[in-house]
Amino acid sequence: MNSEQWFDRAKAVIPGGVNSPVRAFNGVGGTPVYFKSGKGAKVQTEDGTELIDFCGSWGPLILGHAREEVVEAVSNAAADGLSFGANTAVEAEFAELVCSLIPEIDMVRLVSSGTEAVMTAVRLARGVTGRRKILKFDGCYHGHSDYLLVASGSGLLTGGISSSAGVSPSATEEVFVAPYNDLAAVQEILKANGDEIAAVIVEPVAGNMGLVEPEPGFLEGLRAATADCGALLIFDEVINGFRLGPTTYGHMSGIKADITTLGKIIGGGMPIGAIGGSTEIMSHLAPLGPVYQAGTLSGNPVAVAAGMKTLELLRDESPYLKIEILGKRLADGINRIAATKGLDLHCAQRGGMFTPFFRKAPVRNLDDSKACDQKAHARYFHHMLDHGFYTPPSGYEVAFVSAAHTEADIDAFLEAFGKL
Ligand code: PMP
Repeated sequence: MNSEQWFDRAKAVIPGGVNSPVRAFNGVGGTPVYFKSGKGAKVQTEDGTELIDFCGSWGPLILGHAREEVVEAVSNAAADGLSFGANTAVEAEFAELVCSLIPEIDMVRLVSSGTEAVMTAVRLARGVTGRRKILKFDGCYHGHSDYLLVASGSGLLTGGISSSAGVSPSATEEVFVAPYNDLAAVQEILKANGDEIAAVIVEPVAGNMGLVEPEPGFLEGLRAATADCGALLIFDEVINGFRLGPTTYGHMSGIKADITTLGKIIGGGMPIGAIGGSTEIMSHLAPLGPVYQAGTLSGNPVAVAAGMKTLELLRDESPYLKIEILGKRLADGINRIAATKGLDLHCAQRGGMFTPFFRKAPVRNLDDSKACDQKAHARYFHHMLDHGFYTPPSGYEVAFVSAAHTEADIDAFLEAFGKL
């Protein structure tokens, strides 16, 4: 059976045939690819084709698919029991490792997804401050909990509107939404509502409207403005964490968030999420404090084994320079080809993260990203897929170069891109 046949079968029993909407290829059209196996930078599909993968399971696979040491750690852990719902030595060791790699974090609580991590971080911020409202940025995605499925409302100073049916307006009314990179908008909202705001949450480097970097002073300004009004600053590092170095973006930039959320890489491809912060803040979580959070599979030993081995390899091998060099080679190549051919696009890149934006003008927020030509992105996506390269099936995402990619993979990508 090929991808099309599997998709038809799946549609009868899974809504839309998928377990996460973007996998339906709604943004690019066509039939989603069914993956069979992966090794290093390559995946095999149910169509009998081999693809070089630049999506990397949306970010966790910085070491590539099925890295031997990680698979071995998972197999060994699985053989010892899949879940206990009780304490294990490895979760304590893992927490020690995470805290040692991120000096700003004294304590960490493990959950099973990025969504859960952010949901808990917001509750924690409310519990710590005794305030209700939060401020997020248009185009930043923080998982699918009620409070965070919010788009900007009619004005900056009104609460946001839900971007999903089924979300209570009372949840989204408590959320202000500002444009990313717009410190003046944040200051305006905090000036009028600062004493009601529990937290400002941001992806330090945004990855969910394509790759958008913080402009100089933006994150520093958020740090200062939140400190001024007594709100907490949450860095959602579900994508950023361990992406550019064996630590957080917050640590690398010297900007200290009050709460950090993690996911993706720290599970090495297994379901995990984490909330970290100072002892003072984290002590508000149950059972030490009154903010409740729990999970049957939290700290799952198999997931923790995968995360532990992944972080150890990242710490010991530090593939970051290699990834940065490959990422730059790829982005520079795309930009060079675009210039030669007069294509209306530019490629944003930081480390292994990259997004070809289908317009020449820079993208500094969601409005800019929305102004890109999505049809041109879909043509690019299918052209690359036809030539054996899998990139995220949406123009509002980042693609990833991993430690498993080679210069030859990048050059092959560029050769195919040149035929666009
Ligand atoms: N925060 C950010 C920044 C994310 O990119 C994502 C997922 N892409 C999430 C939170 C939610 O994580 P998960 O999909 O594991 O629930």
